[in-house]
Amino acid sequence: MKKSLAGSAILLTLVLAGGPAVTAAQASVSSVAAAPAAVQTLSPEQTSALAAKLNALRPTDGSTLAAKVQAQVAIDDDLSAAVIPTACNPSTPVRDWAAAQRSDWTAADLQLADAINSFQPLLLDVLLWPQDAGSNFGLSGEFNTDVNHTFRDLGRFWDIDPAGIRLEPMKGTMLTDQARMFRLFNVAYGFPAATATALATEVVTAMNQEKFDHGNHPYFSFNAFAYPGTVIPGFVIPKMIVMGDGVLEAFKAIGYSDVTAQAILAHEYGHHVQFQRNLFQSDLTGPEASRRTELMADSFAAYFLTHARGDALQYKRIQQFDQVFFQLGDCGFTNPSHHGTHAQRLRAADWGYSVVQNSPDQGHILPSLTFANLFEAELPVIVA
Ligand SMILES: [Zn+2]
Repeated sequence: MKKSLAGSAILLTLVLAGGPAVTAAQASVSSVAAAPAAVQTLSPEQTSALAAKLNALRPTDGSTLAAKVQAQVAIDDDLSAAVIPTACNPSTPVRDWAAAQRSDWTAADLQLADAINSFQPLLLDVLLWPQDAGSNFGLSGEFNTDVNHTFRDLGRFWDIDPAGIRLEPMKGTMLTDQARMFRLFNVAYGFPAATATALATEVVTAMNQEKFDHGNHPYFSFNAFAYPGTVIPGFVIPKMIVMGDGVLEAFKAIGYSDVTAQAILAHEYGHHVQFQRNLFQSDLTGPEASRRTELMADSFAAYFLTHARGDALQYKRIQQFDQVFFQLGDCGFTNPSHHGTHAQRLRAADWGYSVVQNSPDQGHILPSLTFANLFEAELPVIVA
């Protein structure tokens, strides 16, 4: 479910460091504690009907607030497609785990999940209303320490201004929250209040089923990305790193909880170094341009993760994680958001580690632009 992509130049012009005050529309939803609704089980017919209704109602023009926000999510790491079954997705530990989580889904359930995901509810909710995202990373907050410590360490490590970069979780419980689903349909998609209320009620009822883990199913929150910050009339969207519960839980389930948050966060923070240092600009276009910036972020990550003044992790462990993580890579080598092949990404990480290894002074951190220049010189070798 890759989005159509705007050019990076457009995106960069929209990067702002601050902005007008939060509007009324951006205010928090009230936390009125409603009694939990009884869980209803939908029949396959009801499930299919809701999927069809959502698909028919999904706006296709670019005039909605949702479309304007989505158009700016150009440089991101949309992993959500990685767990969606397609012919080109080979079996991998993560994909197999994700498939097992859907083993009790019917074809209609998958249709409905895809119809809901196509509205990108979690992505829009966290970008438009980050103040409601909460502070727990992982379903029970088990990644809080790793995420927060790594974020702090990244801020001290790289020579950019970390102020203003928000770190937010992405949690599927939004899907069973009537007020937040109403807000999505009404504000982000512009549906009249009555329509939005009815849709929210139906989606919340459907998502509240056990098979969808009451919204917490990883199919809905399998994502992590960096956002450069944007102003859209009525909304100031801050610079952000978003970490979805689904991706954290997936790697925990297959045995990588000790490095997952660190490695993903280090890559996403690398994108913020690129935003602040104008490193998205190059002579390359299309897939080669995104491949360059993604591989650079992989190198930034390996450098930070293994540096004595960074996370000082064993590179062997990072390599083991990367071996599995890079298997999520898209198959779309012509896609404008292409991240590079598995082998290229591993070479980019290996190279970042080698810069640490070959430094005569293990206590010295290279300036980000110096590191980026070294990367540019190495890029032809990495992609060879
Ligand atoms: Zn990336």
